[in-house]
Amino acid sequence: MVEKSDQLGGWLSKQHKSIPTHPPFRDLEETGIDQLLSEIENNPRIKIYKSAVTGKITGGPGLFDVTLQSANGNPGGEELDSFRVGAIIQATGWKPKDPRENLPYGKLDDVILNIDLEEMVKTQAKITRPSDGKEVRSIAFIQCGGNRNKEHHSYCSSICCLTSLKQAMYLREMNSDAKAFIFYEFIRTIGLYEDFYRKAQEDPGIFLTRGEVSEITRADDGGLIINAKNTMPGENVNVKVDLVVLAAGMVPNAADGEAIRAYEDAKLAAVKGDSETQRKQAAEKAEQLKHHEGTQILNLAYRQGPDLPALEYGFPDSHFICFPYESRRTGVYPAGAVRQPMEGLGSRNDAAGAALKAIQCVEMTSRGEAVHPRAGDISFPEFFLQRCTQCKRCTEECPFGVLNEDEKGTPLVWATRCRRCGVCMGACPERIVSFKDYSVDIIGSMIKAVNVPEEFEEKPRVLALMCENDAIPALDLMGQHRLKCNPFIRVIPVRCLGSVNTAWVREAISAGFDGCILIGCKYGDDYQCHFIKGSELAVSRGDNIREKLEQMAMEHERVELHQLQINEYERIPEIFDKFMEVIEQYGMNPFKGM
Ligand code: SF4
Ligand code: SF4
Repeated sequence: MVEKSDQLGGWLSKQHKSIPTHPPFRDLEETGIDQLLSEIENNPRIKIYKSAVTGKITGGPGLFDVTLQSANGNPGGEELDSFRVGAIIQATGWKPKDPRENLPYGKLDDVILNIDLEEMVKTQAKITRPSDGKEVRSIAFIQCGGNRNKEHHSYCSSICCLTSLKQAMYLREMNSDAKAFIFYEFIRTIGLYEDFYRKAQEDPGIFLTRGEVSEITRADDGGLIINAKNTMPGENVNVKVDLVVLAAGMVPNAADGEAIRAYEDAKLAAVKGDSETQRKQAAEKAEQLKHHEGTQILNLAYRQGPDLPALEYGFPDSHFICFPYESRRTGVYPAGAVRQPMEGLGSRNDAAGAALKAIQCVEMTSRGEAVHPRAGDISFPEFFLQRCTQCKRCTEECPFGVLNEDEKGTPLVWATRCRRCGVCMGACPERIVSFKDYSVDIIGSMIKAVNVPEEFEEKPRVLALMCENDAIPALDLMGQHRLKCNPFIRVIPVRCLGSVNTAWVREAISAGFDGCILIGCKYGDDYQCHFIKGSELAVSRGDNIREKLEQMAMEHERVELHQLQINEYERIPEIFDKFMEVIEQYGMNPFKGM
């Protein structure tokens, strides 16, 4: 257990009390952090490093070599220890986002954040005004102090409403005459926390009102005047209070999402740039962008960068439907508020989930098996490197950072990081990547083994290369629902559309197929591709396919790409029928029987 600060416990140890964690979900609770910490610190099987950060992590699942250094803020600080671990959980939590600019945080002394109030109650056991130390008898809580505003911080941080309700209860417990005003646009107290909201609502000293706080000014007597518009009754509201508390947005304590994307773009341009000069400049830019906020957390010695790749707001990437704990680095599992905004109870459950994934990773990796999504798969990509041209496509396109490179650009495979998607196999123009049970030749032989009727028989043949993750199960569902589809389609399952080598399309056309249809998972911001960008890569490789067809003097309309969710099985007959209409329009493949 590696902790950057000099004490364990994170935000929970800074809390006075916790929101409820069990029925009836109405009452404040002790956080229980002291007991939890003593259990951890007295467990002889848990080794704790405080004031420490990772200097470097090399290797892969089952074989991660971690070097720790002191957290003195200097890169390359004093080395503390090094050890080997099988899996890593990144539970680095969150940090507050500064509130919106129209809220005078930092400009008026008595406008503070919810975390400041929490610390005050925890350390002083009373609430006082920062400007003059006077006991606070009224507080205005302003929700979404920067959240859910597209200009500033557009997502809900999920705990701020609960925190304001909790802190309003602190005030009321300390002084039964005190008043709390909570201004919100929406109150979000999900699930059973609704009962916690009801308890606050029943308290005559807690006033909940919808309203947009447009101004906060200082009153002559030292108080603060809140001006709110668009309130529930429709009128503007003015309230004078002693203290204003802003609900701060939650930002993951991880790598900077934008910086990561800029780095990844530069890395790609360093391979795909039009000229040598452009590629060189992009490589230099990538080197500069490599270290940015968040890189002190993992410091992975991976060719694709030192952090977990992140989504739009900096949350580590994961498959939001099927594999919530998986990151794009096999064996590294984000948990808690670094993964998505969540409260303490949610974080504990999340930590249990991530710990189970980590155990599964260690056990399966030690048996030589893939953990997910091809759980139990014991194949590995093999590279016939004598024919490698060091084009770097595989090292760049592998979605999981499996491949490092030597100084000449030859791929170096870290087998336990691999998810067996075959994207490297689809990427390699030399066709030198293969698995024992999945290769360009194996699928090529399957394509050639399909019986293609002669032209005069007037029975077209279409090859469907369908992803085994969503498209093939959707085909099964189509059958289970007794839907009928065109009988001239022949289906070959593939691990991922990203593994499709363009050679297969050429071989299919040469073998007399009249068309080829590729069906993979949805991609985009809410992607569902089980290998993250395999389906998208197939689309970007479409130009290559079109070029190949043109070289063969064939219409590129004979190849189509589709995305399908598992529950969209009803679309399959229609996709096939429409494609057959296109094939009819262009006629039979002239290569038939040649
Ligand atoms: S099979 Fe997939 S995860 Fe493994 S090296 Fe190839 S691209 Fe990377
Ligand atoms: S894609 Fe193929 S040729 Fe290019 S670097 Fe990788 S293995 Fe070598």
